[in-house]
Amino acid sequence: MGAKTLTLKEKILGANDETADMNRKLLDTHRVLMINIMSSPGSGKTSLILRTIERLKDKRRIAVIEGDVASSIDADTISRRNIPAIQINTGGGCHLDARMIRKALDSLDLDSLDLIFIENVGNLVCTADFDLGAQKNAVILSVPEGDDKPYKYPAMFVEADVVLVNKIDVLPYFDFKLDAFPAIIKGFNPSAGVFPVSAKTGEGVDDWILWLTRIFHGFSAARGAQEGVDTRRAQ
Ligand code: MG
Repeated sequence: MGAKTLTLKEKILGANDETADMNRKLLDTHRVLMINIMSSPGSGKTSLILRTIERLKDKRRIAVIEGDVASSIDADTISRRNIPAIQINTGGGCHLDARMIRKALDSLDLDSLDLIFIENVGNLVCTADFDLGAQKNAVILSVPEGDDKPYKYPAMFVEADVVLVNKIDVLPYFDFKLDAFPAIIKGFNPSAGVFPVSAKTGEGVDDWILWLTRIFHGFSAARGAQEGVDTRRAQ
């Protein structure tokens, strides 16, 4: 029984990885940077995406793909800002997969976009197993969840290109040791950036925006060099 289960999981993940690679190629062709944002429920994914949109909307053309088990509450909130938003309901599934993302990408006008944020289903476990084809993965951990989560859910943090510690406005009320936290992340993933932020007050958001801008410029320059075309769109 155990061997069969393992084989099935390998097949599912193998098929998912193939679709994820195709998604990445599609995005590269259209020179769109996609960032997969993962976290547990209630850590502030939507709030941070809204804060990011507010800061970047005059410079970058943004869309959001929202993953939830049910409802279109988050996509409706994003749409009210005049930002294209696609809601995916997994109907009980605890994560998005590359095929769902491909459907969403096919319904977006990729030539009219620079940046896509995926808000994955709130879950610190299975979302990390499924490559969606995003060029970068971001993990949000909020202060009330505690600074021990990387030890309990390591896969998520190993996959992350950046870790955002959200809700730093409530640090005085919790035992989250922010000073020691970057060293914990380094133990799992030496190259991940760690940014303390408050989506509510805006504190620390400058550093996250700077990271995003650097990633976007690097991505655009690399795509431009690959295609032998100019990179003025990245300016
Ligand atoms: Mg949300």
